[in-house]
Amino acid sequence: MNFLTSPETMATNPNLAVLGFKRQLAYHLHFWAFLSVAPLVLIQWQKEHHLLAVFLLLFCINAVLVIAFLRIKGRYFLQGRLFPILAMISAAYSTALNGHSGLYWAYPAAIALFFLLPLKEAGIYSILFVTVIAVVSFLVLPEPDFWRVSFSLGLSCLFAMIFAWLVGRLQQELTRLATTDPLTGCLNRSQLADILNVQIQMRERYERVSSLVLIDLDYFKMINDRWGHLAGDKVLKELTLRLRKRLRESDQLFRIGGEEFMMVLPETRMKDADALARQLLTSISARPFLDDIRVTASASVAEVCKGETWSVWLNRADQALYTAKNKGRNQVVKASKSASPSAISPAGASEGREIA
Ligand code: GH3
Ligand code: MG
Ligand code: MG
Repeated sequence: MNFLTSPETMATNPNLAVLGFKRQLAYHLHFWAFLSVAPLVLIQWQKEHHLLAVFLLLFCINAVLVIAFLRIKGRYFLQGRLFPILAMISAAYSTALNGHSGLYWAYPAAIALFFLLPLKEAGIYSILFVTVIAVVSFLVLPEPDFWRVSFSLGLSCLFAMIFAWLVGRLQQELTRLATTDPLTGCLNRSQLADILNVQIQMRERYERVSSLVLIDLDYFKMINDRWGHLAGDKVLKELTLRLRKRLRESDQLFRIGGEEFMMVLPETRMKDADALARQLLTSISARPFLDDIRVTASASVAEVCKGETWSVWLNRADQALYTAKNKGRNQVVKASKSASPSAISPAGASEGREIA
């Protein structure tokens, strides 16, 4: 269903994929609910249940609007909020008028709540729904039926809630696995474009400046060759801890290659990002990893420029990192606004220690 999810974005961004599936679910539920309820508008009108026919008509109009918005605009009309209200009123009123024949509709409506709404909201609506149907049943049905209806509808809601809760947890876990690197727990590339684009929009709309820092370990291949791949992995894990220690809550840490990391620093100018990068290099070179493995790293910093795309921004940082490597490693290079980066004074271990 391409109008709800493009395969390209689904393949690269797990969060968008989840949103796409939720919209497909909303689309199908409203579509089939419309087909089932539309004939009832006429039937209830012919039975001279005019008010009920009007509620059912409103339900159908809402379903058509949801379907049309999803198809044409790719948006979820009113976030599906009208469905539970109209379904609840129609099912309760229909039970009051038609007894058991109206009651049967309460079951699919109650279950649909858990597919359409956030779990907490669906839980609240379902309690309300069961209460309303129980009151109506108490008033119009024999007492044994009131008990049967209340318990069976309550149990249906409970099952649907448990199912929705577990599916939600599964979805969160799968999203976490798809968006993070299993070795270090850093974000992986799947979120990169989105997060950089947010910073670009902050720059374009509100003149808020952010910077990014790239860090690449120097001669890491040699570490693997000398100490083994497992030790290399442990160095990468410890490196992540050292980087995280220095970052703010709002900063985001990516592992964008084997031994290459990227930090997105919102509300941070080049000067401050540069100072942070130097401190990070010092925290890497000053103390050995796993007690006796000495490592250095090279870094680049780039402040977002007005009008540039995320790939140009990242490319400028990449070029500056390349320069840092060429200039002898273990240093920070600031990316210039143009493609050619300008080197700044090296942040060797001793200099960095002063800054830290
Ligand atoms: P440079 O200073 O130019 O960056 O040299 P380098 O050796 O760090 O860079 P190069 O790109 O030549 O090699 C990167 C190495 O990183 C090669 C690969 O074995 C290692 N590597 C990549 N991913 C992992 C990983 O997950 N675990 C371990 N242990 N090593 C990794
Ligand atoms: Mg390297
Ligand atoms: Mg590298």
